Parts: sequence; structure tokens; C-alpha cells
Amino acid sequence: MGASVQQSFIWLPAGLLPLPLPLPLPLPPPLLLKGSMTFHKGPSQRSPPPPGYPPARQLKRWPVTWQSVKPEPPGKFVIQVFKDFQQPFTGRYPTSHRIYSMPVPQEPLRRVAVTGGTHGNEMCGVYLARHWLQAPGELQQPSFSAVPVLANPAAAAVCRRHIGCDLNRSFTKALLTASPTPDEPYEVTRARELNQLLGPKNSSQAFDFVLDLHNTTANMNTCFIVNETDLFAMHLCHRLQLQNSESPSWILVYQPPESETFSLDSVSKHGMTIEIGPQPQGVLQAKLFYRMRSLVASTLDLIELFNQGTAFPAFEMEIYRLLEYMEFPRTEEGDLAGMVHPQIQDQDFKPLQPGTPIFQMFSGKDVLYEGDSTVYPVFINEAAYYEKNIAFMKTEKLTVSVPALPVLTPSPAH
Ligand SMILES: [Zn+2]
Repeated sequence: MGASVQQSFIWLPAGLLPLPLPLPLPLPPPLLLKGSMTFHKGPSQRSPPPPGYPPARQLKRWPVTWQSVKPEPPGKFVIQVFKDFQQPFTGRYPTSHRIYSMPVPQEPLRRVAVTGGTHGNEMCGVYLARHWLQAPGELQQPSFSAVPVLANPAAAAVCRRHIGCDLNRSFTKALLTASPTPDEPYEVTRARELNQLLGPKNSSQAFDFVLDLHNTTANMNTCFIVNETDLFAMHLCHRLQLQNSESPSWILVYQPPESETFSLDSVSKHGMTIEIGPQPQGVLQAKLFYRMRSLVASTLDLIELFNQGTAFPAFEMEIYRLLEYMEFPRTEEGDLAGMVHPQIQDQDFKPLQPGTPIFQMFSGKDVLYEGDSTVYPVFINEAAYYEKNIAFMKTEKLTVSVPALPVLTPSPAH
């Protein structure tokens, strides 16, 4: 195994973070996490982060600057967990450590929302949300009732992804706290409304969990998108994967942990996204509709199990972590100069080796993948990403060891 990147984590209780967080206080009381989390990685060097992500040292969300780490020992990340951590961080840890706050639920999750139609032409979520708004009983559990939300009703009404801008990129601090203006995009206004309904983001009043439903035109089957710092969501994904082992499903970590979150499910304390495809935009396919409905029911069942004191032990699983976007080849005028190569069409989550053709130019020439390591492309030829000029996204495959969740004491029915 060749050189690889080593990262270390120290899990701190959120209340003990040493520097001011841009969050409304109070934060939940400290909870120390027991166990360890280990990433194993193949021989490749990590690629640079996607374009648009600010350098880590400029980020404000994470309280301690993290730095590039030494590539040793090969193939392993070392995680340190301080079971009896009492003192705030003082800078005495090696600079190779990333410092994460990974809060886990300490109480039953009672405020849960299921959101659909965040993109108004992704029909499974649009019609499930509309269905549950008429018949919310399907979302009831003994200890909580999940709230259905049609996230982007204006876009859903005209069956478009969005009216003004992408709602699922609008939950940044800058947009949520900006003063409303008459000419701002509809989705910016709607993001503030949803932040009031389900947040406020990063506050103790925020919903416990948001499950956001999406469709993709790419051949991604079932894909769970999580934040790698959301331990609770990782447990849910793992269980869902096990329960649905007859059908391929994948876990995608979309955002670097040091970057500011921007998606709808980032408004709540915990959350995740379900992507199901391939399904064309504006089309509703029964098979996919029922798969999504079943996954939502399973997710709520799992939250109920957690609420009732069921143990969620440690495990290992494969995840795919976003490395960077691959843009379409363009002419000098900005038109498409080629298309996704037939050899990689529909090959989402399959290994892409250096030298493999990725684009076919209209001239007939093939463009080869020139990276120096195997990557795993996802969202290949996604219809919604033409406007973002993204042909596909490169990911790396990692194995992650996730520690057990704390076990709640059984609670009475709500
Ligand atoms: Zn979507």
C-alpha cells in the first residue's frame, strides 16, 4: 500500500469547544464520545478539494485550524478519543490532528421532518410530501410524529428544479442572515422560511433530524448523502444499507467537514439526504416512488428504535467521499465540445482507472482520465448539473470505523 493521507480526529463535546462558534448558544451539555473512528485509504494521494471550497484556514465554522497531515503510517487514519476530557483545547495536541465536534443525540429525537420537492422536478419527493401532507399518519411513530414538508412549493408547482437559484445550496449563514431584498431569488426567501420552521440552523431550537428526499438522473440506485461528522446519520445509513442488501446502495460524503454546510438537512441537528435514480426530471416512476417511501419508513423506524434505547454498536462500512468536480469540455465560446463517454455512462460508483476515456469530443476524439489514481465517479451526466457545468464528480472510496452510539434509557411514549 502506498503513501496516503493520515488524518486524526479528537472528538470534543460541543460545549467545550475552545473558540467562539458562530452559533446561537446555548449548546447542549457536553457528552463525551467513547470509541474510535478510523479511516482506511488506498494508495492514492488525496486530490485537491473541489473548486469553490475555500482553503481550510479561512473557514470559520470549525474552531481550530486544521492542517495537512503527514502521510504516515500508510493507509490508516488515527483517531484519538478522550474519554475523560475535561480541559478545553489549549493547542498542545500535534498539529496533525483535526479537531472535530461530533455531537450525538443525548435525548430521544422527537422533532423530525421529512422534506421533499427541495428540487421541484424531482418527483418522488414532491409526491411523497404532497401525499403525507394529506395523510400524515404514515409518518407517526410511538415516540414522535415526523412532519412532512414540501420544501420548494413554487418550483414544484411549475415542475422546475428551482425558480431563481438552487434551494439546496441556500442554507449558508450569509444567505440566512442577510436582510431580505425585493429582488432576491425566491429560494433565498424560502430558505429563511425553512430555517425558521426547522432551525434555526446551529441552534438548540433546531429540529432533531431532517430527512431530505431527492431524485437523480444518474444511475446511482440508492445513495445516502451524509455529513461525515454526523455520527447518528452514519448509523442510520449503515442500518438502511444492511436492511436493503438485495439492492445496491451507497453512502456519499459530499462536503468536506471543514467547509460550511449549505443543504436543507444542515438546518437540523442531524440529517441526511436520500438520492434515488435514475429517474428523469419531471417523471414519476412507481418502483422508485415505493423504494423511497419504504426507505423513509425504515429511517423513522430506526429513529424510534434509538429513542426506545436500542443499542447501535460500532461498525465498519464503505463510504465514498467527494474529491472534485469534473467539468465538461467546452469550446472557446462556451458551448459543449463533447459529451460523457459511453464507456463511463451509468458507471456510477465503479472504479475509474487512469487512461480510461471519460469524454467523447464531437470531433470523434476521446478524452482520457489523466489522474494518477483510481477514483469513483458519481452523478455521471446528471441533468441538473449541466447548469453547473459538472459532468460528474470524482470520489474516493474509504472504509470508516464508526463507534457505537450512546444508549438512551427507554422513554415513555410521547
Ligand atoms: Zn435534488
